[in-house]
Amino acid sequence: MRYTACVTAAVQTPAQRILKTVFGYDGFRAPQGEIVEHVTAGGNALVLMPTGGGKSLCYQIPSLLRPGVGVVVSPLIALMKDQVDALRENGVRAEYLNSSLSGPDAREVERRLERGDLDLLYVAPERLLQPYMLDLLERSPVALFAVDEAHCVSQWGHDFRPEYQGLGVLARRFPGIPRVALTATADDRTQADIMAVLELDGARQFLSSFDRPNIEYRVAHKLGPKQQLLDFIRAEHGAGTREADAGIVYCLSRKSVEETARWLLAQGVQAAPYHAGLSVRERDDAQTRFIREEGLIVVATVAFGMGIDKPNVRFVAHLDLPKSMEGYYQETGRAGRDGLPSTAWMVYGLADVVNMRRMLAQSAAPEAVRRVESQKLDALLAYCESAQCRRQTLLAYFGEEYKQPCGHCDTCQSPPESWDATRAAQMALSAAIRTGNRFGAGHLIDVLHGNETERVRGLGHHALPTFGVGKAVSDRQWRGVLRQLAALGYLTTDAEGHGSLIATPKSKALLKGEQTLHLRAETEAPSREEKRERGRKGRGGAEAYSPDPLFEALRALRLRLAREQGVPPYVIFHDATLRAMSAERPRTLSALGEISGVGARKREAYGAAFLAVLNGVEVLNAEAPQPASAAEQGKAGNAAVLGVLKGESGRETTGVPSDAPPDPQVAARLRAWRLNLSREQGKPAFTILTNAVLDAVATSRPRTENQLLAVEGLGPKKVDAYGAEILRVVRGE
Ligand code: ADP
Ligand code: ZN
Repeated sequence: MRYTACVTAAVQTPAQRILKTVFGYDGFRAPQGEIVEHVTAGGNALVLMPTGGGKSLCYQIPSLLRPGVGVVVSPLIALMKDQVDALRENGVRAEYLNSSLSGPDAREVERRLERGDLDLLYVAPERLLQPYMLDLLERSPVALFAVDEAHCVSQWGHDFRPEYQGLGVLARRFPGIPRVALTATADDRTQADIMAVLELDGARQFLSSFDRPNIEYRVAHKLGPKQQLLDFIRAEHGAGTREADAGIVYCLSRKSVEETARWLLAQGVQAAPYHAGLSVRERDDAQTRFIREEGLIVVATVAFGMGIDKPNVRFVAHLDLPKSMEGYYQETGRAGRDGLPSTAWMVYGLADVVNMRRMLAQSAAPEAVRRVESQKLDALLAYCESAQCRRQTLLAYFGEEYKQPCGHCDTCQSPPESWDATRAAQMALSAAIRTGNRFGAGHLIDVLHGNETERVRGLGHHALPTFGVGKAVSDRQWRGVLRQLAALGYLTTDAEGHGSLIATPKSKALLKGEQTLHLRAETEAPSREEKRERGRKGRGGAEAYSPDPLFEALRALRLRLAREQGVPPYVIFHDATLRAMSAERPRTLSALGEISGVGARKREAYGAAFLAVLNGVEVLNAEAPQPASAAEQGKAGNAAVLGVLKGESGRETTGVPSDAPPDPQVAARLRAWRLNLSREQGKPAFTILTNAVLDAVATSRPRTENQLLAVEGLGPKKVDAYGAEILRVVRGE
């Protein structure tokens, strides 16, 4: 082992050496090595790689190898700080320049740039394009320019940024400096735009597969969506336990976001809602908690996710259909950026198909736009109903051929049976037509089954030739037939929202017998037993949730260190690194340094602390209140979330009955204030004030120092030190 390592070391290139010592990784992933070599040698490049593919190293390592500063243009100002923090953790001299910096701080960064006293500099495009900045760059040693999220130059994409159009100036003002453009958005038109706008003629193009191998794709029929979701996250993602995974649950409407979040909270699952109807502060809080805490589930509309690059999102669940395959790929793509097994999970049913078709019918968009949207929806529904490998279907939509069924999506794992449904489809369509294309699934199934309900008799539908012709097919199979007919475009719905199923012109050939139709057989609902069994076994890539106490202890340590430094936990170590530590249990610093993701700087800074946990020394117990308060902080967060959900934000009260519960808003504010203070003073939060005291303050909401002194646990010394501040926090200032 050691011998092999030595041999490898002897033939290591400088790039590989940096990969190992700075980033702690053993080898490049497929195209990274080539890209690094090409750019380091001064070449221009266009890099297309899916999310999580590892684009950052493609410019970070050349920046370290070439003389001067690597200048990274990025539109996501909110992410710059985390990116820079992550680099600094690895000992890289990184800074950013954007509107969030004060004047003096920005000038200091500019001075360091000019002196070449930086390895990497992240800049917002509007800042980069200012004449003084371009002049400054001309005076400074620049190693390369990297244009991240390069698809922002394209008007065709959804992320168009006008400032990006000016970036062609780099080609003209800095002809000798290599430029690399990177994106995860693939289509030909966007690629051509990037090449043209950034004047990248002659640049080498590195195009990777868009497959996300660590994501397991699953689509199930909607039975009881919330319960299905809960079963899934409990069985496979530890929901409700200390080991819970972080995930995103997408819903279509604000209302279902709130209902789902409230329901999950009531089931003891850490969850927070996120949608455009919440205040900016509420949204920021949810986002910050998602990034800084472990195991939080954000229930959100599609407004959530842009500009979040938390690498350990372990699942993305859709309780409602996305709008298109593009949307589905992008949203599910937020799972598993770190390459560990993750799940893309979705449930959908007939009502969703009807709903989406109705929204299209009601849309005020021009006809041409509606036609495109309708085609996109059709493609998505065909994916949902596909009996083929999901991965093959998904990649085929984006023009990529995936040679063999992947073996770890749901259709590969349990191939659906299909049946010749031509006759059944004819019955269903004629039932719709003969009842006047005015009824939904329930009534149509009554007619097909020959149920003489009051409504059936009242409308005279018991006299129709289709009445009772479908007795042999179960209710569940009929629903499946109707759903698939709607998904495949043989049935549509009305614009008024009555849920009528209407036969389309496409159904003519089927009715005339000119065409046959094979449909997926509906699986019967799995029994509780089966569900439990499935949860235990796990399915393919995403492993069934099984607690790993050592990983948990490492994660708790990571969270504590992250809190102390005010950075997201994954900036300290990625999940993959903690998993490897837990599996390999290194006992010495040098063995720890062999773990993927442990570079020299992190080994020095954190090695001893992690070894103490790995060697079973109870370091965590010594400071037990920290991890405990992490859990409690989660609880306070939940209380605050419940406040948001009840519409209690900004509630103003006086005189409080003594048996009242703590005000969740005040409790959350007090905890935030204490956390800040503990960071500033560098001492554990509980030594400032305990949770019990904070809760007592949040209950009585004192307005004067005298009232403060009446709170149990608050002596004159504490009131002296913190009284004024606490009163201010209680007042919400
Ligand atoms: P992208 O920007 O393409 O979405 P990142 O650059 O953020 O991807 O990398 C995704 C993840 O993969 C990060 O956690 C990164 O540390 C990790 N990673 C990248 N390259 C390697 C490598 N060669 N070996 C191990 N991990 C890597
Ligand atoms: Zn598959």
